[in-house]
This record gives sequence, structure tokens and C-alpha cells, in this order.
Amino acid sequence: MIIPKTPEEIELIRESALIVSRTLGMLAAEIKPGVNCLYLDGLAETFIRDHGAEPGFLGMYGFPNTLNMSPNAQVVHGIPTKDPLKDGDIISVDCGALKNGFYGDHAYTFEVGEVAPDTKKLLRVTKESLYIGIREFRTGNRVGDVGFAIQKYCENHGYGVVRELVGHGLGKKLHESPEMPNYGKRGRGKKFVEGMVVAIEPMINMGTRRIRQLRDGWTILTADGQPSAHFEHNVAIVNGKPELLSTFQYIYEALGIESDEEEEFRQIAAN
Ligand code: MG
Ligand code: MG
Repeated sequence: MIIPKTPEEIELIRESALIVSRTLGMLAAEIKPGVNCLYLDGLAETFIRDHGAEPGFLGMYGFPNTLNMSPNAQVVHGIPTKDPLKDGDIISVDCGALKNGFYGDHAYTFEVGEVAPDTKKLLRVTKESLYIGIREFRTGNRVGDVGFAIQKYCENHGYGVVRELVGHGLGKKLHESPEMPNYGKRGRGKKFVEGMVVAIEPMINMGTRRIRQLRDGWTILTADGQPSAHFEHNVAIVNGKPELLSTFQYIYEALGIESDEEEEFRQIAAN
């Protein structure tokens, strides 16, 4: 059952989402060769608690940490380890926060040091597909419209779109209805309504879309060992149109990157 949110509830989800945004921004300044993920996980837990929230993933379905940290060929749900990050790695960081009874949940794939050009392109295209998908999240459209847009864009670049893991509704629960696949058919699936809040999160592989899971019961990897990227935003439908509740701007500020992608998105979404 889809649970549309009131304007007040959307503001509470925004508050939780922005705690995640700030956490990712804090991490952006710390991610470099030689640093290990378990250390970063500890920083994130402290940061989230210092902002009056609880880590959203810690203990969820038994997950042992605050962050999902998935380097290189890991797609999602990686468990932070003491292995140091290396120059040329990518690291997908997925983070949740719970405050006032509502969840925020989003993700960014970071570059560690100097990353190969084809890997940089995977990150760029995956992030572009996120915004292209979010544009379709508006009243009158359906779940399949978002998935279709993401799938088409990524497959046109020759990438594999993971099928087994999907985005989701977001609110008092981390995973609410509907499921938001990153593939689909135009005009199919549940209809979007005013006040809906979802997490849209393309998981895109450089090679095959096929995945496998480690024996730890969590870590998802690409079947061919090639890199995978993951970007996620939280989005509400306000006045029929998609509104970003999360932001990557704290990341860009930390990295000294000038990005107008969110402003550009807002202008496109306003039409
Ligand atoms: Mg997430
Ligand atoms: Mg999610």
C-alpha cells in the first residue's frame, strides 16, 4: 500500500534526508587512499548521532554497521572492513538516518584518488540516469516510466542494469511500497500520487547486469568482477512534480566541485 505523506511529514523526511546528505559531505572530505571503511563508518555513526538522529541501517535486518560501503565490483550492501582504500578505487556509500520517526536514505559513489576514465564515465552516466529517472516521478506517470528512463539511458551506454535490487517508498519505514525498479516499461506499474516519497537508486554495472552474493549474506557483487556504481536521492511529489529532499551539494562543497546539476534538475522538473 502506498502511503502518501502530508506536507509536514515530507518536511520531517527532508530533515532526515539532509542529515544523510551532510554525513556524505563529511565523508567526502575523509575518503582518500589509505583510509579504511570501518574508520569511516565510525565517523558516520558519531556524526549522525551528534545531529540528533539514529543510524538508519544499523541493526536493520541485522546489518552490523552504519554505512553500506561497496568498493569497485561490489554493487551494494558491502560491510565496512579495515582494508585500506587504494588509489583508483571507487566506493559506493549508502547511508540511512532516522529522526522524528522518519527515514532518510541515500547514496553516492566516490572516487578514491585518480580513477580510470572508463570508471569515471560509469559514475557520470549512473548519476545522470538518476536525474533522468527522477524527472518521470510526477503525478500522471507510473512506476514503469521511471524504470524505463533509467534503463534506456544506461543500456544505451552499454551498461548492465541490476534487476534484483530496486528503489522503494520511504517514510516511517525504510522500505515502503512501491518498489521502484531501475528497469521497466512505459505506462506500467503503480500510479504516482501527490505526497508520495520514494528513494530512486540506480545500481549500474560496467559489464553484465548479473550479480552474485558473498557468503556473508550481504555483499552483492557484479558476476564479471567489473565495477558497479550506485547513486540515490530521496524525492517527494509536491504540486504534482518531483522535489529533491536530499542533496549532493555537501559532497561537492567538500570536494571543491562546482555542480549545477540539482539546479538544472529543478528547472527541468518545474515544467
Ligand atoms: Mg540507500
Ligand atoms: Mg534505498
